[in-house]
Amino acid sequence: MSLPLSYRIYRFFLPLRNALFPALCSLCKEPLEKQEPLCPKCLGEYRASRLRDCGQCGKQLDTCTCSSDMLRKARVKRHVKLFRYRPGHEKDAESRIVFALKHHNLELLFTFMGKELFDCFSSIMPEENYVVTYVPRTPRQEIENGYDHARFLAMTFSEASGYDFQKTLLRKNRSAKEQKRMETVSLRLKNVKDGFALCKGADLKGKRVILIDDIVTTGASVAECAKVLRREGGAKEVIVASLAVVPHNINPLFTDFKHKNT
Ligand SMILES: [Zn+2]
Ligand SMILES: [Zn+2]
Repeated sequence: MSLPLSYRIYRFFLPLRNALFPALCSLCKEPLEKQEPLCPKCLGEYRASRLRDCGQCGKQLDTCTCSSDMLRKARVKRHVKLFRYRPGHEKDAESRIVFALKHHNLELLFTFMGKELFDCFSSIMPEENYVVTYVPRTPRQEIENGYDHARFLAMTFSEASGYDFQKTLLRKNRSAKEQKRMETVSLRLKNVKDGFALCKGADLKGKRVILIDDIVTTGASVAECAKVLRREGGAKEVIVASLAVVPHNINPLFTDFKHKNT
C-alpha cells in the first residue's frame, strides 16, 4: 500500500499553503526567512542532542546497539533511535521536538524528523525490502489528539525511504489505556498485554518490518506490537525506529521494578 491519497493531496497543496503563511520555527516560533522546520538556534540544539552518549554503553545513540530487555525478549532485531529523552528536562530541544510533534501537527517538522530517522536507519541497517508501520493509538485517542503522530512520522519516514507504508497492520484494542497514565512499569506491562492485535488480512510472511514510534519509554508497547507482528503476522524480523528513548538508568518508571523483570 502506498501513502494514503489524502496525504498525497495534502502534500500537493503544501507549497501553496507555505506561500500564504509566514515561516516560523516549529519550536521557538521565531520568524524565518523561508519555510524550514527549525531556526538555526533550535537546529543547533537538536544537532547537539544527537551527540550525547547513550547513557549505558557510552556510544552515541545513533550508533549504539543497546535496547531494553523488553525489546530483546520480543526478539526485536535492533532499536534505531536518535536521541535521549530526559524526563523533567522540558526545555531540551529533544523534549520540545517530541512535544511539538505530539500536540501541534507541524508538517515541516514531521517531514524533517522522518528524514532524520531514515538517514540514521540507513547508515546502520542493511538495504533490504522493508515494510513500514507504526504503534497505533485507539480511534478515540486519535480523535482526542486530532491525529496519530506515530502514523504521521511513519508516513514521512516511508516517504524519505521509499519503503512501503502499511497503515493497516496493527490496531490498538479499545480497552487499552494511554501508557502515559500508567505510573509504573508493572501497570504498563499489564495495560499492553493483549492491547494490540493484527488487522484482518494482514500477511507479513517473510517480510522485514520497521515499527515506528515517537518515543520508547519502557518499551512495553513496541515489544507487544513486535510480538504480534512476528507471531500472528509471520514477520521475518522487526526493527524498532523511534525518535527518542528514555534510558533505564534515568527512567523514573524503573525505580519500582526489578531489573530482571524488564
Ligand atoms: Zn527556534
Ligand atoms: Zn548504548
